[in-house]
Parts: sequence; C-alpha cells; structure tokens
Amino acid sequence: MRRLLAALGAVVVSLLSSPIAFSQTFPTKPVTMVVPFAAGGPTDALARIIAESMSRHLGQTVVIDNTTGAAGTIAVGKVVRAPNDGYTVSIGHVGTHVVNGAIYPKLGFDLLSDLEPVILLPSNPQLILSKNDVPAKTLAEFVAYVKANQAKLSAGNAGLGSGSHIGGMAFEKAAGVKLQYVPYRGTGPAMQDLISGQIDLMIDQTSNALPQVRAGKVRAYAITAPARSAAAPDIPTVDEAGLPGMYVTIWHGLWVPKGTPAAVIARLNAAANAALDDPAVRKRLADLGQDIPPADQRSPAALRAFHKAEADKWWPLIKAAGVKIE
Ligand code: ASP
Repeated sequence: MRRLLAALGAVVVSLLSSPIAFSQTFPTKPVTMVVPFAAGGPTDALARIIAESMSRHLGQTVVIDNTTGAAGTIAVGKVVRAPNDGYTVSIGHVGTHVVNGAIYPKLGFDLLSDLEPVILLPSNPQLILSKNDVPAKTLAEFVAYVKANQAKLSAGNAGLGSGSHIGGMAFEKAAGVKLQYVPYRGTGPAMQDLISGQIDLMIDQTSNALPQVRAGKVRAYAITAPARSAAAPDIPTVDEAGLPGMYVTIWHGLWVPKGTPAAVIARLNAAANAALDDPAVRKRLADLGQDIPPADQRSPAALRAFHKAEADKWWPLIKAAGVKIE
C-alpha cells in the first residue's frame, strides 16, 4: 500500500510539473499587468479594456500596476526580473519594447531575448494636436505658427522613446521644426495639461486624443495615417493636410519573462485572443481608433517575428539619428 501511494504521489508530482497540468491550473491567483505609463493615458486605457475581458476568460483578476518613469524602461525591467510563472505580464508598445532598446544603451536587459512574446495587441495612429487657443485652424497654419514660435512653444511627451516622442520627431522632420519637449509620466497627465493650456502641442495616439477632440477640449489637425479613421472621419490625413508621408503607427503587445512555460503563455494568449474577439471590446477599441490585428497575427510566434522585424527597422534609424540617453 505504501509503495502504491508513493507511486501515485510520483505520478501526481510529475503531472503537476508537466506543462499541460500547469496550464490547466494556471492561473490560481491574480495576474499583474504592468503598464509602463501613468493611469488615464492610451497604454493604460488599452490595458484596462483588455485586462477586464482577460479576467473573465482566465477566471482570475488581471490587476493593473502602473509603474512609470524613463519612458517605460522601469516597468519593462520590473517584468524582466519577475518570476517567470505567467503572473507578471508586460504590456507596452513600439516605444517601450523596441525604440527604447536603441535609446537607452544601459537598459540592463535585452528587449528581444529577455522577454517571451504573448500576443500582438491593437495599433493606432496619432493625431497632431494643439491646445484650443492656438491661432491656427488647419495643419498648414499650425505648421507656420510652430515655425514662427518654436523656441517658446512646449510639446508634451511621455519621455524620450515614448510614442508621443516618436510622433514628435516625425513632426519635426516633416515640418522642419525643432520642438521643446516637456516629459510626463504618460500622455494621460500630458493631455490634462494640453487641455488646460499649460503646454501648447502634442502628437498623441487617437485612443487618448479622440475623446478630448470630440469634447472640443483640444484641436486636432491631422491623423498620421495614409487613410482617415472610421472613428474620426472629419480629421484629414497628413497627406491631405500638407505633411505627406508623416505616418506613425503605435502598435502594442503583451510579453512575459524569459523562460515562462509555453503552456502558460498559451493560456494567456488564448485569454487575450478571446478578449480581442469579444464584440464589446472590439466596439470600445474601434471607437478609440484602434485597429485589431487579424487572428493569424495573434500567436506568440507571430509577435516574435514582428518584434524582431521592428527592431531591425528601428534600431539603425535611431542610432543614425543619435538619440541616446546614457
Ligand atoms: N503611449 C503613450 C506614449 O508613448 C504614453 C501613455 O500611454 O501614457 O506617448
């Protein structure tokens, strides 16, 4: 009898430690999603929409942890160093998970090899925005105004390497201007200062900007995409408005620490996929101008390939531009 029990015990132990058993039991406690920017901004909004739906599919709460600072590098480092058990997930975008790899040489981790991809999340273009009392109504007038006043105008962003900084740099190049940046812990707080007129302009994602534009609290001149957005059909494209080709797309993703069991990643991927297929989630995201990737782009392998391709595209560009923080 004792031998039988011992044998049974061994089977149970081996079942529990096998990836299949782990995926069936995972998660047994809340999962933390680390958001690299302040509450009330675009990354935070996306995280909360996805986390709420993922919680239902996982049967455990997905808790949001806003860890801000240094354009997201602190938050990503926190996930890299977390236990690789699937309970700590990193949400971020092309800035935090690609661009920062070239801007911050002393990051202390490798964005491609120290994280395991879970899923590609929605992407959205940006809007060229100003506070309401700027004397410009069109993009051409706005560019002329910025050119004439560039030394005294302030542009909000979420730190060097953030999406709003990438958009700012694209605007500088397209318009032939130099911006004076004011860094924030996220474009949520920066948007509040744009509304109150503390700062003059910002290039920020539709997901954060559209609700404020619709409420008449800030002015939008153009969308950084080759086509108008169904969520904002009145806002002209940069091509139509006079800065041709100034396209910026901010895509998002989910990652976990290196060495997280594949079955746990599969479980997180399935929950996030279900969230992206949830009609209520799709509607909320569409209203914010977010484009949901098609199902065949939503596997961990697809994100791994896309992440690498994006790094290969961005890193040489950033190094050549000499944007670097020691
Ligand atoms: N995603 C924004 C940016 O990169 C920051 C934020 O989410 O608050 O500018």
